Amino acid sequence: MKKYHLMAPGPTPVPPSVLQAMAQPILHHRTPEFEAIFAEVRKDLRTLFQTNSDVLLLAASGTGGMEAAVVNLCSPGERVLAIAAGKFGERWGGICRAFGLDVVAQKAPYGHAVTPEALEETLRAHPGVRSIFCTHSETSTGVLMDIKGFAEVAHRHEALLVVDAVSSLAAAELLMDTWGLDVVVTGSQKGLMLPPGLALVGLGPRGWERAKEARLPKYYWNLLEERKIQAKNQVLYTPAVSLVVGLREALRLLLAEGLTNVIRRHDRLARATRAGAEALGLELFAKATPSPAVTAICAPPGIDGEAIVAAYSQAHNITIAGGQGEMKGKIFRLAHLGYVGDFDILTGLAALEMILKGFGVPVDLGAALRAAEKVFADER
Ligand code: PMP
Repeated sequence: MKKYHLMAPGPTPVPPSVLQAMAQPILHHRTPEFEAIFAEVRKDLRTLFQTNSDVLLLAASGTGGMEAAVVNLCSPGERVLAIAAGKFGERWGGICRAFGLDVVAQKAPYGHAVTPEALEETLRAHPGVRSIFCTHSETSTGVLMDIKGFAEVAHRHEALLVVDAVSSLAAAELLMDTWGLDVVVTGSQKGLMLPPGLALVGLGPRGWERAKEARLPKYYWNLLEERKIQAKNQVLYTPAVSLVVGLREALRLLLAEGLTNVIRRHDRLARATRAGAEALGLELFAKATPSPAVTAICAPPGIDGEAIVAAYSQAHNITIAGGQGEMKGKIFRLAHLGYVGDFDILTGLAALEMILKGFGVPVDLGAALRAAEKVFADER
């Protein structure tokens, strides 16, 4: 028997008390019991998103939440801007094009970030952009982008800012109201420490105003209708009942730890992971601000990144993530997202040392662990 460890940037491990909450007999959603749970969840979600606006729950993966944002904000043929420095930013462009929108693409090479200055220039060159779609933590490259800076630029140009916070919410600081983020989308299987299946979409006042005029077709994703009914602690269609019950417990855990502490924990775990990788002479893929959710590491020369991912699985029963698209084989990704502590990081780094040694790389066994432990020991 080899004990299993899940170290991918989603789905992430689920805490035992959340698993237990979800194992209770199914509640019917049109009951006072469910409505009381839903009310608590709605209140705590506002705290998590740092907003006074409604955060809606949808039965979907994160991409469903992204599509819901597009169809509720945009009208046929409208000009939008999609910021892409990785696979998930590219997904915004893909969704917008699928609905026939006039998409201006704002790109940066993989591993880099689009800057607010670059966004400003593009908006000057392409007037009439009504919504800007961006990614906070680009999970495919391990880069965190400056959404606060994007929001300032967007509003100067009278465009809405829509943020994919799928791998950043409950991992990186995100102040929806203070930073003026008009729409924030996330999924359950990341920082929220739940199984996949819930999308969460928060709209601020400008987002709701825009939703009233948006003419793209929709039926399941009618957020204005959803908002009316969710205000009564009900939902339009059958909700993912067990996930909502699990979410209540996950939110209790996160808020008991305190948002500031949750963010500090992720930052500390990320720094320890990076220190460990660098102590082995490995290059980090992120050339801009690294994500606190996931560390993308370049495979050493001559070694296939996919072989490292396979060795994690086969030799150690650990699931990590490889590279996506053209990054496949070139990088591997160690996550530190959600229900993760110091010793998970040490496990992942210890396995890395042994895997590289197995591939014939000269490794000073323990070097990554020493570097990570130093981060942990210096900051209790
Ligand atoms: N955006 C980001 C930043 C992600 O990390 C993911 C999932 N890896 C998604 C969007 C898509 O979410 P889902 O797979 O839940 O549809």
